Amino acid sequence: MSSQPMISLVIPVYNEEENLRNLMERIRPVMQGMGRPYEIILIDDGSRDSSLSILKGLAVEPEVKVVELVRNYGQHAAILAGFSVVRGDIIITLDADLQNPPEEIPKLVKEMEAGSYDVVGTIRKGRKDSMFRIIPSKIINIIARRITKVRMTDWGCMLRAYRRPVVDRMIACHEHATFIPALATFFGKRVTEIEVAHDERAGGTSHYPLRKLINLQFDLVSSFSDLPMKLLMYGGIFMALGGVCFGIFLAFARILYGALWAAEGVFTLFAILFVFVGLQFFAFGIVGEYIGRIYREVRKRPEYVIEKVHSSESARQAQ
Ligand code: UDP
Ligand code: MG
Repeated sequence: MSSQPMISLVIPVYNEEENLRNLMERIRPVMQGMGRPYEIILIDDGSRDSSLSILKGLAVEPEVKVVELVRNYGQHAAILAGFSVVRGDIIITLDADLQNPPEEIPKLVKEMEAGSYDVVGTIRKGRKDSMFRIIPSKIINIIARRITKVRMTDWGCMLRAYRRPVVDRMIACHEHATFIPALATFFGKRVTEIEVAHDERAGGTSHYPLRKLINLQFDLVSSFSDLPMKLLMYGGIFMALGGVCFGIFLAFARILYGALWAAEGVFTLFAILFVFVGLQFFAFGIVGEYIGRIYREVRKRPEYVIEKVHSSESARQAQ
């Protein structure tokens, strides 16, 4: 065994049959070029295409380990499942769709070792996504920066490096709705970020329709603060005070201008009422969302269930 620290790549895979071969072809030379021990952990997150059989074929390589999950648990749970089997000292996560160029891996490792960092985050340079993805992501980045109090520019890029203790602490905390990059900053003392390239998805389509995207962003916000609930409370007080002031104004206007004026204002009142009713429902929704999450946490169901770990070792043992 070399004395160099080992590098583990953790890659969640969900219906990526078109990209897997390409991905491995680009990863191999990069990892071999670094001349260190490494392992590649690919997690099959309940793919419904031929991804799993392709992965099983790859698992004959000594560096490759495939974690087969029972069903689809989502990207972040899949990464956690991968974390549970890592052996390396430096753990790097990346996407399977080649949006995170594997050629950037050495840069991450270099930065981590140069500054003896615990977490190396990344900023996507020239991000190749639709505006519809980029704008909400910018807003979320700002909120996340405020609530976690960590000066990260970009939370969404999954090409990140973590030191082993950070990963161990993340696995130990058994949370359901997790957002790995944000969680990691809680468990790492020295955190930095560098710029990396970003590409368009090589094949297939994104697995994040709007509904899943909103859910994920809510994971990020709700698992780290009660900010949405606080906003609600302050917003509520503000609205109530506003309502009282408006009532006083209406009363005065009625005295000054007479009943006719006030009656004509009925429809305005309706409009205002609708706004408030709408806001109330929004509030219920947010509270409900938290309750749902509390419920999920107290149920203590595992975040993921591993069906089998495929590797050249396990294949040998089976013989
Ligand atoms: N992924 C996963 N489980 C899911 C959805 C996605 O493991 O339920 C993986 C997917 O295979 C990819 C990564 O997570 O490697 C990022 O997914 P995607 O490219 O669809 O997200 P986007 O780049 O659109 O944010
Ligand atoms: Mg992608």
